[in-house]
Amino acid sequence: MKAGIFNGQKIQLSEISKPNLILDDEVLIKVKSSGICGSDLRIIHGKNEPDNLPIGHELSGEIVEVNNSIYDKYIGKRVAVDVVSAGRACGVCRHCLNGKYTYCLLKDEESGGSYAEYLKRRIRASRFFIFQ
Ligand SMILES: [Zn+2]
Ligand SMILES: [Zn+2]
Repeated sequence: MKAGIFNGQKIQLSEISKPNLILDDEVLIKVKSSGICGSDLRIIHGKNEPDNLPIGHELSGEIVEVNNSIYDKYIGKRVAVDVVSAGRACGVCRHCLNGKYTYCLLKDEESGGSYAEYLKRRIRASRFFIFQ
């Protein structure tokens, strides 16, 4: 898939593999639109090391694949992913249980970002806004 990857100087359009669904409740989201957050700009202006995954966490899209048939009803649903902790918070650690998702101890950093055609998120842990 196409993705914007920070190469140490700028975000460059690159070809990377689509995220693999591994955990039971992971879903694949086809990104339809992505915001550019101020924190994304701070990330790329504050370092020189290249990334291997796209950043970007403000998105809307459509669930196109689930990893367990109990979530089949979500296929085709349009979603917005909560930008608090980029939708990567575990939902079960002490910070998450207190609503402080930003401080999650088990954040899924490998799930990819929205400067890409696809990203994955955990449907049980992530706070999705699901539209019909
Ligand atoms: Zn943001
Ligand atoms: Zn957590």
